[in-house]
Amino acid sequence: MILVLDSDATEEQIQGVLARVEALGMQAHLSRGTYRTIVGVIGDERKLQETPLEAIPGVARVIAVMDPYKLASREAHPQPSVVNVSGVKIGGGNLGMIAGPCAVESAERMESIAKAVKAAGANILRGGACKPRTSPYAVQGHGEEGLKILRDTGDRHGLPIVTEVMDPRKVELVAEYADMIQIGARNMQNFVLLTEVGRTKKPVLLKRGMSATIKDLLMSAEYILSQGNPDVVLCERGVKGFDSFTRNLYDVAAVPAIKGLSHLPIIVDPSHATGKPDLIGPCALAGVAAGADGVHIEVHDRPDEALSDGEQALLPERYAEVMRQIRRVAEAVGKAMV
Ligand code: PEP
Ligand code: MN
Repeated sequence: MILVLDSDATEEQIQGVLARVEALGMQAHLSRGTYRTIVGVIGDERKLQETPLEAIPGVARVIAVMDPYKLASREAHPQPSVVNVSGVKIGGGNLGMIAGPCAVESAERMESIAKAVKAAGANILRGGACKPRTSPYAVQGHGEEGLKILRDTGDRHGLPIVTEVMDPRKVELVAEYADMIQIGARNMQNFVLLTEVGRTKKPVLLKRGMSATIKDLLMSAEYILSQGNPDVVLCERGVKGFDSFTRNLYDVAAVPAIKGLSHLPIIVDPSHATGKPDLIGPCALAGVAAGADGVHIEVHDRPDEALSDGEQALLPERYAEVMRQIRRVAEAVGKAMV
């Protein structure tokens, strides 16, 4: 950490800064420049995260040198992490291809969608049993009944399942059924929920909040990792933009940016990022080309009858076509699709 002092800091203030740094258990290294004097703080600066160093008389600015996310950072773990979801690997060259309807509807519907996405090459089945709806009057999901349907369908097709949990009191129940637990965008900073999923042994799919920065996302991952659960997969699903033409603003640059900062796998969700079937394929390809470790797409065989997000669902044949294209991009960037 570097403390930049006020240009008119007095000698007494400079000595006061040095004394304060040493009193905090760190070493201080003073460097007097022509225009500014700086103090290098030597030691584990994360211990000072809560210390208001800018409030020390004479300090103008504090510059952090280390990332505040300790476990999620690449510094802590230079090799990319591989998350194993009941036999399906995500990261380290392996693509997690997650597909399924927005909400689990009926056993019959789940069956036909699972069959189609499996045939197209998906390796993880998704479906929401507890839906985070903007309106309290919208369909909220089928709860445990939905979890059972998803579990049975996944088992029949040899597909691990991922589903969302919204309530810290339901984490245990969802973990009983799911192979991977999804934390949705709206709950990315629900720290009680993150702590609870961190205490499970299940891989977690952590979606980026719609107004969350890359640093916010990594700090949320840190909550899960710090509880002892190392299996976190991040997901770029778009952030709020100013143009309502697309549902969200797909931040494809977040993929290589996060790859540079963290060892955690990151996948893309062009369905929620764009909200438009025509844009899902191209954005999926861009995500894989940019280094994503997987793609999450909503698929429905009767979008007009879907309980939620029907307008953005891909028909199974369209999904199969997108998967054929993804396969070619994956090959070009040296990723395995199994
Ligand atoms: C979902 O996956 O269906 C969902 C609600 O996603 P998000 O949390 O990204 O909006
Ligand atoms: Mn959805």
